[in-house]
Amino acid sequence: MQPDTVTAPPPAFHIMLKPRGAICNLNCRYCYFLAKERMYPESRFRMPDELLEAYTRQYIEAQPVPEVTFAWQGGEPTLMGLDFFKRAVELQQKYKKPGMRVLNALQTNGTTIDGEWAQFFHDNDFLIGISIDGPAHLHDFYRRDKGGNPTHARVMRGLEFLKQHKAEFNILCTVHAANAPYPLDVYRFFRDELGAQFIQFIPIVERANDTGYQEGAAVTDRSVTGEQYGQFLIAIFDEWVRRDVGRVFVQIFDVALGAWSSGRSGLCVFEETCGTALAMEHNGDLFACDHFVEPRYKLGNMTETPIVEMVASERQRRFGQDKRDTLPRFCRECEVRFVCNGGCPKNRTLTTPDGEPGLNYLCAGYKAFFTHIDRPMRIMTDELRHRRAPANVMFVLAQEEAALERQFAQAKRNDPCPCGSGLKFKKCHGSRRR
Ligand code: SF4
Ligand code: SF4
Repeated sequence: MQPDTVTAPPPAFHIMLKPRGAICNLNCRYCYFLAKERMYPESRFRMPDELLEAYTRQYIEAQPVPEVTFAWQGGEPTLMGLDFFKRAVELQQKYKKPGMRVLNALQTNGTTIDGEWAQFFHDNDFLIGISIDGPAHLHDFYRRDKGGNPTHARVMRGLEFLKQHKAEFNILCTVHAANAPYPLDVYRFFRDELGAQFIQFIPIVERANDTGYQEGAAVTDRSVTGEQYGQFLIAIFDEWVRRDVGRVFVQIFDVALGAWSSGRSGLCVFEETCGTALAMEHNGDLFACDHFVEPRYKLGNMTETPIVEMVASERQRRFGQDKRDTLPRFCRECEVRFVCNGGCPKNRTLTTPDGEPGLNYLCAGYKAFFTHIDRPMRIMTDELRHRRAPANVMFVLAQEEAALERQFAQAKRNDPCPCGSGLKFKKCHGSRRR
């Protein structure tokens, strides 16, 4: 299929490449990608060498930026074997433009990583995303292998190899029905047990259907609810903003600071429009987004149409602009729209209170979270404007809280509560005295 009219290409775009398609050695119960195997019934699910070479050349040629990131995903990309990635790096060196920096980011379940992989990742500056959902009892709830066995111990083993070989890693934690009630157990495990510096919390909103596509409004009971997701983020933020700013980086907190301080979050989910984060299957089929690997969203195949043409097509531009143009009025008038922008279209399954479709399933959580962090975000933004470290927020809040504690100590039972709630002290913070 040819993409329709070509418009000006975007300044930079990003493709998640799936060299092994949806093939994985695990069977995580909430995985949205395993079902994609059914789209290619005859396939061996291995990207051939000539396609890898053509991809590398086209991807580099199409990027008008000095730094290009190759993103490897699956399924489980390490099932391609180490030689495939050695060849990928070789091809990147062959085709990179003078002065261009080529980076690699690979998302893995961590269970296949040994010393050899870890050494390779270190030597070639790969950034490794490890999927882990918290301590063993929370991780193993849904992250099982094909035999139904727990996987946490194997992930920890892979992580140890990465640490031993000083390979860079970050944590990708999905938030679902099983771990959402335990935000601090999850966060402290990453911070204190794993020594993680970079963490992403991705909400599981899993459609309840047999197609594996974004169809129907019902979600499975493994999905996190909007309220749960909001409370999960709030609990972690409250701990982070008091002790970890500047030493632990949580993606959604950084993204929020970007929106407060510069008006740009930098993450497609919270940008006004999207469409520059695409996904490519093992055979060269290109799709509008990793969450829309479905026949309806296929832009074409790179062996028939150059990647840059598909990315720049009117169809893909419309996909990205629809994120803004289909936003219901409820969102357009929302106080936190500047940071939320209605979230990812894949999760817009609800109707607004006035009956308009297109409200995000996670709306209640986004609203609660973004409202809750407003004051610390303003403090950090102010620090940035004065060319000071946002981490100063920790001192500002500590001072304010110490002052408030002194007021609590002096307050009488029937005084208005110093916290400003409007309640009598005895009904509010004074109740702690009893
Ligand atoms: S559909 Fe969602 S995940 Fe995909 S590019 Fe748009 S905002 Fe990002
Ligand atoms: S918080 Fe809810 S209403 Fe506000 S922009 Fe986000 S999804 Fe829309």
